[in-house]
Amino acid sequence: MTTEKDYLASLKRARENLPAHIFEKSRFEIPQADVFQEGNKTWITDWGRILKVINRENDADHLAKTLAGNFATSATEERGRLMLQGKFSRSMINRELSTYVKEFVICEECSKPDTKLVKEGRILIKVCEACGARVAVK
Ligand SMILES: [Zn+2]
Repeated sequence: MTTEKDYLASLKRARENLPAHIFEKSRFEIPQADVFQEGNKTWITDWGRILKVINRENDADHLAKTLAGNFATSATEERGRLMLQGKFSRSMINRELSTYVKEFVICEECSKPDTKLVKEGRILIKVCEACGARVAVK
């Protein structure tokens, strides 16, 4: 005999047996950077975490260069943090980060963040590992 309690327990077990990344992907949100200003420098203190959330741990340079380029400054990675020369507010940085994620990370077809950037000649292509979509990006 199956009671409601058994049913709930089996639902819970089924959920626990699903790989964790299924839940992570369904609740993907563009990460918000923690920003710290020191003199004429601005640090993104959770740089490593951001790269992990957007699946760019192996392609950090592209994001660092894009951010630096948009702020017309230089960026240096250091021990899990990113340092930008100049003073930039948290909201400025998060606006750029959000623009970057929409353009270079999230798939236009399926809206998942499971993409990678592949260079083909001089063209950079965003390849979605979830649905296979390929989109040329700047
Ligand atoms: Zn896709």
